[in-house]
Amino acid sequence: MEDQLTTYESIDEELAALKRKVAELEAETMRQPALETAMQISEERYRMLFDASTDAIFLERLDGRILDCNKAACRIFNYEKAELIGLSVADLVPDEIAATLADVASEHLVTGGIFVEALGKRKSGEIFPTEVSTRLAVLGGGQILVAFVRDISVRKDALAKLEQQQRHLEDVVAARTAELQVLNAQLQKDITLRKQAEAALRAAHDLLEIRVQERTHELAEANRHLQEMDQLKSKFMGDISHELRTPITNLNLYQDLLSRGKPEKRAVYEEALRQSIHRLTRLSEDVINVIRLDLFKGDVVFSAIDLNEVAALVVDSRFSVAQGHGLKLVLQAGESLPFVWAERKQLSQLITNLVENSLNYTKQGQVTVCTAWDEERSQVRLEVADTGVGIGSEDLPHIFERFYRGRTVGQSNIPGTGLGLAVAKDIAVLFGGTIEVHSELNKGSRFTVWLPAAAGID
Ligand code: ADP
Repeated sequence: MEDQLTTYESIDEELAALKRKVAELEAETMRQPALETAMQISEERYRMLFDASTDAIFLERLDGRILDCNKAACRIFNYEKAELIGLSVADLVPDEIAATLADVASEHLVTGGIFVEALGKRKSGEIFPTEVSTRLAVLGGGQILVAFVRDISVRKDALAKLEQQQRHLEDVVAARTAELQVLNAQLQKDITLRKQAEAALRAAHDLLEIRVQERTHELAEANRHLQEMDQLKSKFMGDISHELRTPITNLNLYQDLLSRGKPEKRAVYEEALRQSIHRLTRLSEDVINVIRLDLFKGDVVFSAIDLNEVAALVVDSRFSVAQGHGLKLVLQAGESLPFVWAERKQLSQLITNLVENSLNYTKQGQVTVCTAWDEERSQVRLEVADTGVGIGSEDLPHIFERFYRGRTVGQSNIPGTGLGLAVAKDIAVLFGGTIEVHSELNKGSRFTVWLPAAAGID
């Protein structure tokens, strides 16, 4: 009984299980159409996406045979879909790339996919640039390749144009840079030139300033000199009139005495008249010399002169006068003496003035005229030395001044005008030379004239 109960229970359970199975099957049967619909929708969605893509999409076998493709693939490669399916990928690339496709396929197996830029070939044979991206996928239990191919010819063209523009721009920039460099170099040159010009202008300006200062100084000096000359001229005129007064007064006096004085003193009056005439003559000669030197020194014509010859003539002309004074007059002419650059008449006057002074101021002894070439100074030397009264130290600084007469001689009867040495000095300076004096009271004097040799004058 118990066994029978167990059997019924199990039958019931079995029935219940069957009912559940039936219910499940019924539910399953109820769901089946819904599943199919869902799959259909999914398929349509996939197809829509597949065809909506602007990139070409290929489903292909690993050997390259095309299983499926989208609308973009047809558009890009210019094939009908029916033509593409069954073609090999090798038909869609240039021949040289087709030869390498086997290697690419094996790379897929290792990496699962690639992303490369490659060349595609349209149906017309036109080659164009593409960007290819592939992925290994499983379909229907087998491995396939999904390839996305993007036509990048527009982008490439744009890029090429962009590069061209960039190159053009670079060329323009390079040309402009070169132009600017040239301009800059020119500018630098201009700046340098300008700076140089400014520096030159500044230097010229400074020089001008210095010149102006120098010229102002020169003018001030010239002005001062003119004033001095003016004063000297006034003094000279005053001195001349003063010097003339004595002999002229004497002339009048002794001329009067000659006619109205004592007859026994006639010889004295005549001697006094002679002395006055002599003094007047000397004075006028000396004044004429001074004026000639002052006014006409620019007209003096220089030449090479033999100093010994001129000195000998002066000594000869004064020889008898010296003898009359009981004096020896000696010429010591230097040998091989170079000519001097001078004017004969003035040179003769210079020597004469010195010799006459020595004869006048020497009571006894000798007057020596000596010429020589001084190697050290490269100048010709003329000396007039005497054994006369000499010149006191108080007179020495003034004896070359016009109308200056030594204190001792002024009180004596020695005739003179005070112009002889002034004329001698002017002549020496006119010849580019100098004159010096060494003297000792009661022992004698030595006048030395230094003259440039004619050969040394340019
Ligand atoms: P001057 O002889 O007519 O007086 P100078 O100008 O020739 O005028 O000489 C100026 C002065 O120099 C003279 O007055 C005299 O005092 C002095 N002097 C010139 N030469 C000699 C000389 N050889 N010896 C002494 N004194 C001289």
